[in-house]
Amino acid sequence: MNRNKFTTFLMLFLLVFTMIVIPVQSVNAAPVDDVLKTLSSGTLSQSNSTGGSGSNIFEKLFGYLFNKILGPVINVFGSKSSSDPNGNPVKVTPLPPSSDSGTVLDSSGIRGKVIVVDPGHGGSNPGAVANNTRETDNNLSVSLKLRDKLVQAGAKVIMTRETDKTVAAAGSTLGQELQARVDLAQANNADIFVSIHSNSNPNPDIAGAMTFYHSGKSPKLATEVQSAIIKETKAIDKGTAPETFYVLRNTTMPGILVEMGFVTNSQEAAKLSSDSYRNSIAQGIFNGIVKYFN
Ligand SMILES: [Zn+2]
Repeated sequence: MNRNKFTTFLMLFLLVFTMIVIPVQSVNAAPVDDVLKTLSSGTLSQSNSTGGSGSNIFEKLFGYLFNKILGPVINVFGSKSSSDPNGNPVKVTPLPPSSDSGTVLDSSGIRGKVIVVDPGHGGSNPGAVANNTRETDNNLSVSLKLRDKLVQAGAKVIMTRETDKTVAAAGSTLGQELQARVDLAQANNADIFVSIHSNSNPNPDIAGAMTFYHSGKSPKLATEVQSAIIKETKAIDKGTAPETFYVLRNTTMPGILVEMGFVTNSQEAAKLSSDSYRNSIAQGIFNGIVKYFN
């Protein structure tokens, strides 16, 4: 408010006060605490909504006096008062600060969901082995971390294995081993099936994470999980692709097969062996599943 405005309001105030208020003061006097409440709540809502400094306090004071004192005076002559019928200040509840950071996910969507987590290989079949890293160990470690995160969020998790062993009876064929994993998902009427693997390639320069989905089904779960893994790990994004892997084509629910990284790449093998990187991957897969169900 500039000086001229202030002077104008002051003069108007004095005018109203001397000509109208004094004669009716005994009838319409506003309690002081009402005035203070109006001013404080008005200033509060102003500073919350616009970040203003409350410099228009005299405008509010004049407005309040108009509604409280001049309003009822006009009302005497038959026109309707524009003030709140009870004369109470309207409380403005400030909105909670918007959370656009994306760091805290609402995981309520996965509560009660049946999720099969399938650490690839195990027991007599260690999967890809290179750079002193065994695929089966990476797969199991990340799967157990993923299980804990899902359980904590209220999902019902079924692990195809929780130790370094085969899922089917020892001596079973590869087909029987894979079918044993499918059977667990089908028998438990799982909502989703998540198989965890590590990749390998004759070219040691190739690195990165990728996620497969069954070619006949929606890629949504795969795309959510893949992008969340990349966000968490900053790994090279090798994208998603449709595939006909046994465990994907023989399960009826949405399923994915995550290839977390290449054990044949020495740098990625070292990362895949570290507890912190394993936790980042598990967090990424978890975040993707949460987004899928939201
Ligand atoms: Zn594998």
